[in-house]
Amino acid sequence: MMALNGKTALVTGSTSGIGLAIAKAFAQQGADIMLNGLGDPAEIEATRAALAAESGRKVLFTPADMTRPEEIANLVKATETSLGKIDILVHSAGIQHVSPVEDFPIEKFDAIIAINLVSGFHLTRAAVPGMKKNGFGRIINIASAHSAVASPFKSAYVAAKHGLLGFTKTIALELATSGITANCISPGYVWTPLVERQIPDTMKARNMTKDQVISEVLLKAQPTKKFVTTDEVAALALYLASDAAASVTGANMLIDGGWTAE
Ligand code: NAD
Repeated sequence: MMALNGKTALVTGSTSGIGLAIAKAFAQQGADIMLNGLGDPAEIEATRAALAAESGRKVLFTPADMTRPEEIANLVKATETSLGKIDILVHSAGIQHVSPVEDFPIEKFDAIIAINLVSGFHLTRAAVPGMKKNGFGRIINIASAHSAVASPFKSAYVAAKHGLLGFTKTIALELATSGITANCISPGYVWTPLVERQIPDTMKARNMTKDQVISEVLLKAQPTKKFVTTDEVAALALYLASDAAASVTGANMLIDGGWTAE
């Protein structure tokens, strides 16, 4: 029997990277899926159709910009209407910007806080009433090793991820007797477009070549000297979504190649 038979999941940031890997893993384990994220509409439709065909599940897409509270509320409503309920809420939408604090563009700082942190509040706020009614819920926020430790030039991102962990712990306590768990998954460096895109700015901020950024900044932090894979993160999300994880709540599940053990 598949672990998520009869379950439904809303996964933000699932047009790319970690969110997409989680949506795929959940659909393959029997869940119906609402995808969300930015991107080229034709590419998103191709991704949606392929996942529906290979999994045999209902796979839908609703656009919603994570900087817009009313669009987030509509996304939750659309998911409840079209899939019947939300059992699992995964918040993986996120952006990064690398810059010394004194040069950090104000709009970038605000956008990182809005997308990586505040949208987690709007999603949870809208989804919890339905989960409470069903007596079941799994809230999984994709934080980062940067929820536990800092790195220079990432002030907005580190602030957002520390905040997301604090938010998640708080709602775990509030919902502890409702059959709803809330946890963070905190990956180290995973090779996705988000990491690739920060290499040019890091080259500039640290005056390094691309290879130096990969070995002396990114993989330097990880004792394993390997990127975490999106499939490894998806496997952890699958565990947190499963019935076996009913007592795991308020946790920060680090999957960081030993980074934060140092
Ligand atoms: P990615 O760039 O591949 O995916 C990010 C997703 O977020 C995309 O689907 C994108 O469309 C969506 N998104 C961005 N802005 C949005 C907005 N305004 N509204 C709606 N959707 C929006 O990146 P990823 O590496 O898969 O990152 C996913 C999450 O994992 C992020 O929260 C990131 O901080 C976290 N994370 C990534 C790494 C890593 O090394 N890649 C490490 C730790 C944590």
